[in-house]
Amino acid sequence: MPGGVETYLSEIAWREFSYHLLFHFPNLPEVPLRSEFAGFPWADNAEGLVAWQRGQTGYPIVDAGMRELWSTGWMHNRVRMIVASFLIKDLLLHWRQGAGWFWDTLVDADLANNSASWQWVAGCGADAAPYFRIFNPSLQGAKFDPDGTYVRRWVPELAKLPNGLLHSPWDARPIDLADAGVSLGRNYPAPIIDHAAARQRALEAFKSLKKD
Ligand SMILES: Cc1cc2nc3c(=O)[nH]c(=O)nc-3n(C[C@H](O)[C@H](O)[C@H](O)COP(=O)(O)OP(=O)(O)OC[C@H]3O[C@@H](n4cnc5c(N)ncnc54)[C@H](O)[C@@H]3O)c2cc1C
Repeated sequence: MPGGVETYLSEIAWREFSYHLLFHFPNLPEVPLRSEFAGFPWADNAEGLVAWQRGQTGYPIVDAGMRELWSTGWMHNRVRMIVASFLIKDLLLHWRQGAGWFWDTLVDADLANNSASWQWVAGCGADAAPYFRIFNPSLQGAKFDPDGTYVRRWVPELAKLPNGLLHSPWDARPIDLADAGVSLGRNYPAPIIDHAAARQRALEAFKSLKKD
């Protein structure tokens, strides 16, 4: 399976690259590699941080990942990217807050990989993902968890929703929610932020940085 081997080798290369970065930039865990990000208008949102940490954001794939992390200390790389994008771009919280939570909760917490990966998602690292790459959590959920196995396992209160609604329960009709025993805002949160509006806010914040 050549694709699998290539992916594996490229992930190993990312790991070694992270070590290289930490060696040459020992303040990688604290300071953005792209200096213009030092002035980024991060939000102050303690409630949002707690909702993210507890898997109570109202976005099923994000909540599944954060609950898995809390229960097991591990999360797949794809979900790490999704939850990190949500913290940084939807909630506009500082990447260091996310990195700190991962540091405390991941069994594979690693200063080089964690710091470099968070900076990569934030867009302020070396060879970072472009800032405008903002994951849509419901589309990511539908793409990478199409049959809903992952969300149903970690967010059991949504288990009875059909696949087409599982990653965006706010789109469900009241009758669909009632059939599945879901009451948004009661036994599962309504989204804590509107993704489309948050995306726009993040892009505006990014534009305000330009250029040194
Ligand atoms: C926001 C964020 C934070 C992260 N924090 C950490 C962390 O604290 N510690 C950590 O080890 N990894 C971290 N990673 C990288 C990656 O998610 C994990 O290394 C990977 O999920 C480990 O799974 P695995 O052992 O099944 O890897 P496999 O896919 O089986 O790969 C084998 C080995 O390659 C390395 N590796 C794989 N993917 C990556 C990657 N994307 N970046 C760097 N090395 C990789 C790991 O050493 C891994 O054990 C983070 C990624 C993101 C997006």
